[in-house]
Amino acid sequence: MGADESAGPAIVVRGLRKSYGHVEAVSGIDLRVPRGEIFAILGPNGAGKTTTLEILEGHLERSGGEVSVLGFDPGRPGRSLRERIGVVLQSASVDPYLTVQETVDLFRAYYPDPLPRETILELVGLSEQQRKLVRRLSGGQQRRLDVAVGLAGNPDLLFLDEPTTGFDPSARRDAWEMIRGLRSLGKTVVLTTHYMEEAEYLADRVAILVSGRIVAEGSVEELVGQGARTTIRFRVEGASPPKHLAAEPAGEEGAYMITTLDATGAVHGLTGWALEAGVELHGLTVAAPSLEDLFLDLAGSPERDGVA
Ligand code: ATP
Repeated sequence: MGADESAGPAIVVRGLRKSYGHVEAVSGIDLRVPRGEIFAILGPNGAGKTTTLEILEGHLERSGGEVSVLGFDPGRPGRSLRERIGVVLQSASVDPYLTVQETVDLFRAYYPDPLPRETILELVGLSEQQRKLVRRLSGGQQRRLDVAVGLAGNPDLLFLDEPTTGFDPSARRDAWEMIRGLRSLGKTVVLTTHYMEEAEYLADRVAILVSGRIVAEGSVEELVGQGARTTIRFRVEGASPPKHLAAEPAGEEGAYMITTLDATGAVHGLTGWALEAGVELHGLTVAAPSLEDLFLDLAGSPERDGVA
């Protein structure tokens, strides 16, 4: 691998396709992930996230398109790429009867230039548990051990498939700090997630995958700035907002909601009407567009299990 390649992006994907028999799981996607970035792939169940990840990792053959990972084609497996990437699958299997440090050492032994065990344990926050048996770790600690195993070979690029699914909020925060720590070491991280806040908190850039296609890509700021709607909520007593405000009834009696691309104009129209008509706007809130709004707009079906 030459100097030019090492300076290039971590991942370049063009026109990637994957079919399972008649089912097209990935239908021609393009991706570019610069080195040192945290890149999140979001999408509803069955969107093709795991399929895409597995192709990038070299675990699954593609049906078409071009893929370059750290300058290598993962479709032609070789040691060079395997030694430079780390993979944390949705459910990893490590021996429950080994200790934490034995597990880490076992995986370090597979690589020519592994990270020191202490560095790995510190990075994932398991230094104090290193003599514990894996089976005695909490669910969150076991997931950190999965990440430790992924880091064993000192990879340039780490793939994390749903790294915090099933975590309680405090374990999730800890995991986020850990993943941010990886970025500060210069690692590239590609993760899939169902959690909008996870992508908002961690990702430099996000791709939203729906039915095997990328329907939006960019930084969270870019994405929510484009096309997502601001939501205005309020309650009124003994009055109905005029038609031109396009307020929809929202649940309880007298509660309304306006969703708009023109927040300034809508707030102006609403408060102007209320002042003129002498109507009190109770519980008035104006919520900025979020990644969740955009996701629900694009994905169509709500992805409730991950959305706070
Ligand atoms: P989830 O969020 O549920 O993990 P995902 O976005 O990772 O979903 P994939 O697992 O990549 O989605 O699946 C994409 C599509 O391909 C789905 O329709 C799925 O049923 C199908 N699929 C995945 N693996 C296989 C397989 N081995 N054989 C046949 N179809 C498959």
